[in-house]
Amino acid sequence: MNHVRTDGAASMSLSQLVPDTHAAACLTEPTARRLNVVPLYLLRNNGLDTLIVGSSQPDSDSLKERLARQLPDTVRAQFLHVDARAIPDALNRCYKTLMSVDDVLACCSVTDQQQQGGEPLLPDVAISLVEALLQEACRHRASDIHVSPLSVSDDAGVLVRFRIDGVLKPFVTLRSGLYSGLLVRIKILADIDIAETRHPQDGQFVLWIAGHHVDFRVSSFPTIVGENLVLRVMNPQSSLASLEQLKLPATTVRQFDNILARPEGMVIVCGPTGSGKTTTLYALLNELDESSLNIMTLEDPVEIRSTSFRQTSIDPDRALDYAHGLRAMLRQDPDVLMIGEVRDSESCHMLLRAVMTGHRVFSTVHANSALGAIDRLLELSIQRSMLVTHLAAVASQRLVRLTCKHCSGQQAGCANCKGTGYFGRRVIIELLIMDAQLAALLNSGASALQVNEYAVSTGFKPLHEQGLDLIRQGLTTAEELQRVLGMPEVAGESSGPVADAVSSSP
Ligand SMILES: [Zn+2]
Repeated sequence: MNHVRTDGAASMSLSQLVPDTHAAACLTEPTARRLNVVPLYLLRNNGLDTLIVGSSQPDSDSLKERLARQLPDTVRAQFLHVDARAIPDALNRCYKTLMSVDDVLACCSVTDQQQQGGEPLLPDVAISLVEALLQEACRHRASDIHVSPLSVSDDAGVLVRFRIDGVLKPFVTLRSGLYSGLLVRIKILADIDIAETRHPQDGQFVLWIAGHHVDFRVSSFPTIVGENLVLRVMNPQSSLASLEQLKLPATTVRQFDNILARPEGMVIVCGPTGSGKTTTLYALLNELDESSLNIMTLEDPVEIRSTSFRQTSIDPDRALDYAHGLRAMLRQDPDVLMIGEVRDSESCHMLLRAVMTGHRVFSTVHANSALGAIDRLLELSIQRSMLVTHLAAVASQRLVRLTCKHCSGQQAGCANCKGTGYFGRRVIIELLIMDAQLAALLNSGASALQVNEYAVSTGFKPLHEQGLDLIRQGLTTAEELQRVLGMPEVAGESSGPVADAVSSSP
C-alpha cells in the first residue's frame, strides 16, 4: 500500500511490485544497481515522460543529479520511498521477469522438452506467467480475467479470457500442462487453500501494476473438468469518477445537482450487474461536502475505496447483513447513507424511516428501468404514500461501448481497440425526478401510461433515447445500442404494473 511518511514523502512496499517493462527500459540494470534505485513505473505524457523511481533516500539531491544524467532527455524522475532491504530482490524481479505472455510461453516450451510434458509448471515460470497475464489484463483494461480448463484430457488446454468494456474476449489458450502451476500461483497470492479443489473458494490480493495498486478478487469454482478461476480486477484509478467525468448530458447533470442540493430524500439507481451503478453512486457522493457530513456506506463488498466516507462491507459470517448493519449505522449519527442494494422489506422500511428523520439515502434496486424500480420498491414497501413522499429520484442506467476514435470502428479494428472497433464506455442514464404531481399520480394508482406521459412531459428521457443521442453524436453504433438495450422494445423487461403498462403501450 502507499503510505505517507511523517516527513511527507510517499512510500510503497516493493513486495507488491509487478515490474513495468517500460520503466525498466529507461534504466540499465548496472546503473539501477549502482544507484540502488528501482524503476517502478513510467508515466507517459506526450514527449515528457516521468519515471517513478523507488529509493531508500528519496530526498538525496546528489542521487537525483546522478540519476538525471543517466536518463534520456525526455524522461524526468520522481522518487518514492522504499525499504532498502527490499531493493535487491525487486531489482532481480525487474530485470529478470520482464516477459510478455509469449515470452513466458516460449520459455515454457523449452522446459517442456526437458520435462517431456505433463509435469507441473516450474514455480518461477508460474510466477512469471501469472505476472505477465495480470499485466496484460491491466494493459487491456480488463475488468475480469477468466481461467477455464476446457477438458480433463491434455490436448484441450486452458482458455484465458478478458472481459473488456463489458464483453468477454478470448486472450490466449494455454497448454493443459500450465494449468496446475497457474492455479496454484493464483491461489497462493489470494491466500486460498491450494489443496481444496472440490468446493468454491474466494480470496483477494493486491499488486502494484503500472503505477497503481490493483485489487484482485479471486473466485474458484469446481467444474467437471477442474477448477474455474475468475479474477475481478478492481483498479481504483479507473472506477472512482466525478460526476463530470461520467460525461452526462448537461440536463442530467443539472437534475442531479438539484437532487443533491436537497437535505433529505432517497435516490435509487438501477440497472443490470456491471452497468456501473456503484460508480454513479460514488460520483454523486463525491459531489457532497464530506467535511461537514458524515457519509457512510454499507456494501457487498466495498468496491471503491475512499477516505472521504466511512465504508463497511457486509459480512454474513459476522451476522452483519444489510438490515443489521443499517440499524447499527443509524446509531453512528450519519447524514448520508449509501446502501449497496435494497433487497428486503425490512431494509427498505429502515431506509425510508431514515429519510423521514432527515437523512439522505442512496441505494440500488434490481430493476431494468426507472419505472420498473418503482414497481420493485412498491413490492418491498407496504405503504405507497410513504415511498412516494420520500423518494427523490430514480435513475436507470447502462454502459455503452464507444466507437474507437483511431479506426472509427472500421470492421478490422486497430491496435488501439485490439481489433474490436470499440474503446471505452460511456454511461447512459434515464432519470425520473419525483415531484408533487408525479407523487399524486403514483399515489392515486394512475395507469403506467399516464405516469409515463407525465414524466416525459417534464423532461424524462428514456434510455433508448439517451442511446440514440450518442449514435447521433457519432460516439457509438446502433449494433452496440441493440446489444445493450435489446430492441425494439426497451422498457419491457420488468414485470410490475407500472413498467408493464408502459412497455405494452404504443
Ligand atoms: Zn480501433
